[in-house]
Amino acid sequence: MDVVKNKILIVDDEKANLKILTHILGSEYTIYTATNGASALEKAKELLPDLILLDILMPEMDGYQTLSAIKNSEQLKNIPVVFTTGLDSDEDEEKGLSLDAADYITKPFSSPIVKLRVRNQIQIVNQLRVIESLSMIDQLTQIPNRRNFDYRLNVEWKQAIREQQPISLLMIDLDKFKDLNDIFGHQNGDFALKTIAELFKKSLRRPADFTARWGGEEFIVLLPNTHLDGALEVAEMIRSDAEKTSIVFSGGAQSNITLSIGVTSIVPKQDSNKEAFLSKADKALYHAKESGRNRVAHLTV
Ligand code: GH3
Ligand code: MG
Ligand code: MG
Repeated sequence: MDVVKNKILIVDDEKANLKILTHILGSEYTIYTATNGASALEKAKELLPDLILLDILMPEMDGYQTLSAIKNSEQLKNIPVVFTTGLDSDEDEEKGLSLDAADYITKPFSSPIVKLRVRNQIQIVNQLRVIESLSMIDQLTQIPNRRNFDYRLNVEWKQAIREQQPISLLMIDLDKFKDLNDIFGHQNGDFALKTIAELFKKSLRRPADFTARWGGEEFIVLLPNTHLDGALEVAEMIRSDAEKTSIVFSGGAQSNITLSIGVTSIVPKQDSNKEAFLSKADKALYHAKESGRNRVAHLTV
């Protein structure tokens, strides 16, 4: 299996230092280098490294200024920065750490210490990534959760405003799901939820389409760059795919599930309200339920 190596950007105005650090770390990590603060910022934005090793004494933009630019950048502020420097007094080290450096390594470099301190930082980065991805996925269905959806809606909403493109939403609720649980048991209910989530993955084929578990037996689908007509088509396809799908439980029992879907669509303006958008879809869903279930209803904002 190919293991993707973590990326480290090393910044030092002296080529000899870059060479030593690359030699120490090159076998375990993918190394990039920069010889001044400005090019470090540029490369960091382009490469988004997992860790930055930063010299302090550099002409023009020094390490302190570079670190402060990193911490002020929305894109870069979470990348840990370790100072690698000849400034070895306690005061220097205290200053570096108080400026939010993740660690402080002094020259001359001890190869094992550099390796171990870098390993510590990389371990933290990798653990955070695992936690972050777990916090974005619904445990039962393994599709994105509500938190993930909120994040995505924010991004797509802003883009839709910028580009004046439509964005549509499907709010989906399983019909009479309580009955399915009562008849087949909660475990089989869970299995049915997983099956439906799988079905959404198959039905939605455009890469930008985004499905999440909204909670309980409710799901939500975000369709960027999609007008109401397109969204209604997608909703109808999902509704009919679900209706045709037989859920086969372990033990052989079978059941069908129907869905009610509320649809809404908007070309958002700067002052449009996201919550109102979500609530329109929810109201449309309510109408779908009220008018008999297993159907699609829509409302526009
Ligand atoms: P309606 O058509 O009006 O939506 O009826 P319903 O029975 O689906 O709606 P209601 O909100 O009364 O019940 C939702 C049910 O979904 C009750 C709850 O136990 C079940 N449910 C919610 N989350 C889960 C889950 O994670 N697993 C299982 N098995 N059931 C769940
Ligand atoms: Mg329901
Ligand atoms: Mg419900």
